[in-house]
Amino acid sequence: MNVKELINQLKSLKVNQADFVAHDETGIFEKDIIALELAIKIIEENKDNMRVCSDCGKLMITGYCIENGLEYYCSDECLHKHYTNEEYMNLYDDGNGDSYHTEWENYSYE
Ligand SMILES: [Zn+2]
Repeated sequence: MNVKELINQLKSLKVNQADFVAHDETGIFEKDIIALELAIKIIEENKDNMRVCSDCGKLMITGYCIENGLEYYCSDECLHKHYTNEEYMNLYDDGNGDSYHTEWENYSYE
C-alpha cells in the first residue's frame, strides 16, 4: 500500500487530532486505533511534508500556508474563519506574498 492510499483511508475515517485527545480520556475505539496506526505511519513517512491545520487540527498535505508558516489552514472553510477572501488575497499578493495554497506532498512510492 502506498502513502496516497493510506491518506485516502485516513481521510475516510475523518481523523483529526481533537478526536484522539477526546477519546483518550473516554476510551479509544477500534476505528481510532486503526486511524492512529495509519496516522503514525503516514507521519513517519511524510513528516517533512505534512502540516496541521491551525483551526481544526487536521493533518494536511495540501492547504493554505499563511505568512510563511505562521498559520496553516486545510480548507477554505478553516481559512475564512480567520481571514476574509479579501484579506487572504492581500496576503497572497498575486503570488508575491508569503501566503499561498500549496501541496506539501512528496510521496515515496514503494
Ligand atoms: Zn482545518
